[in-house]
Amino acid sequence: MNIAAAKAALSHLELDENPVSVRAKSRDFFWYSPVLKARLDHITADFVVAPRNEAEVIEVLRACYAHDVPVTTRGAGTGNYGQAMPLVGGCILHMKNMAAVVGVHPGRVIVQPGCLLKDLDAACKAHSGQEIRMFSSTWATATIGGFIAGGSGGVGSCTWGALRDLGNIIRLRVVTMEAEPRVLEFTGEELHRVSHAYGTNGIITEIEMPLAPAYDWVELFVTTQTFREAAQFAADLGNEPGILKKLITVFEAPIAQDYFQRVAPYMQPGQHLLALMIAPHAMDGFLTFTARRPDARIIWRTDWPDWQREPGPVFEYGWNHTTLRALKVDAQITYLQVRYAAPDHLARVEAVRAAFPPGEVMQHLEVMQEGGQTMFAGLSLVRFTTEARLDEIVKIHEELGCMIFNPHRYTLEEGGRQTVDDRQLAFKREADPKGLLNPGKMIAWDDPDFDFAGVYAYARMQVAG
Ligand code: FAD
Repeated sequence: MNIAAAKAALSHLELDENPVSVRAKSRDFFWYSPVLKARLDHITADFVVAPRNEAEVIEVLRACYAHDVPVTTRGAGTGNYGQAMPLVGGCILHMKNMAAVVGVHPGRVIVQPGCLLKDLDAACKAHSGQEIRMFSSTWATATIGGFIAGGSGGVGSCTWGALRDLGNIIRLRVVTMEAEPRVLEFTGEELHRVSHAYGTNGIITEIEMPLAPAYDWVELFVTTQTFREAAQFAADLGNEPGILKKLITVFEAPIAQDYFQRVAPYMQPGQHLLALMIAPHAMDGFLTFTARRPDARIIWRTDWPDWQREPGPVFEYGWNHTTLRALKVDAQITYLQVRYAAPDHLARVEAVRAAFPPGEVMQHLEVMQEGGQTMFAGLSLVRFTTEARLDEIVKIHEELGCMIFNPHRYTLEEGGRQTVDDRQLAFKREADPKGLLNPGKMIAWDDPDFDFAGVYAYARMQVAG
């Protein structure tokens, strides 16, 4: 790795060598996990470069390839799995200057990867009253490139499913890490080579995404007396095709009472909470749906604001914002990502609730569509004690038939389905022959015989101190 030679070759570009800001740009939200915090806190790159266009991306990759310098791409660094952390140092490729909306068309948008989700939505709305189908709850801060390379779904997934589902990404333009980088365009099956690949096998330089009509969504909080009623409300609402919605989230008590300061005064002890986004023209259907459930009570509507202090966007209570709000109050809180598949999702959640002592695992559910069915993604809050107990909690979930996407691991495989994605591996062999893109994140590349018995420890990781 010849850092000095690479920097010299790139000195005419926007380069950051200040150790303090380089370290800041080498970090993401890995610290949500006490396991990752213990292992990755010392990680830092050697320099940051922010290309202004695709030609500069090619220049960076060509120079880093020539001098054996690893490259880790950064959108906004809001990922939770340490995805954007340069485990062996080297170069951070910061996409902040490639943020243009290239063109908005009926039903689709073409955009550069560094565009913030909120800016993309604003451009589509201003152009023709359209919006992106789904976004991570970090809408205000995260980039579209980071969402595609590191995220999975979010606000909108209760109607549209996950990013990986057919039709939710239209086209990706990708630059390879070779002596002479190539520019490739992927659609269809080929999208899976690089979507959710943590930038381990190519740099995304242009994205085409589908759009939906934009609405002034009515945001609501609803309470129920029992958790079962809240979960059933969410599952049933997810199954109402005529009621257009963008968010259905369930919080088991005492999540809202303990962690949602502006909501808590309007709730009774023991009540459970739902956060919802409903299209204005669907409100009549929604109110009829709710009236059929005498236990459910609307406590907040954005179209009837009557609280002294407005709570802010309801989606900033859901998805991984729930964990953030809890962590701000209680540093012992961490989380798990759980898949409660249909058709047994309600029963599985109840089985998990019964398996833990009160307060150790608190249910936070997000309704999603999967294969035409409503199911739950759980982002359960977990009161952390030890790594051994956390592993036990994971195991108990798995024994109860739930799949865990473990957010306490930094590799693609351990954070995913624990299997090698052959398409991603095959494309890495072709597009990154020296293994310089985001090293240490793809086990299949480094250690194909790994048995997933314990935490994967990347042998070349930067040493602390
Ligand atoms: P980064 O963190 O910068 O990057 C993510 C990954 O993508 C990294 O591996 C990086 O190397 C790679 N990458 C970035 N840009 C490119 C590129 N152009 N080409 C190739 N690789 C690239 N995630 C969800 O899916 N849904 C949620 O609702 C959600 N809510 C969250 C809430 C909070 C409070 C937090 C902290 C995180 C949440 N996340 C969620 C995780 C994260 O915010 C999202 O994945 C987000 O969209 C990442 O965007 P980013 O720009 O910050 O990407």
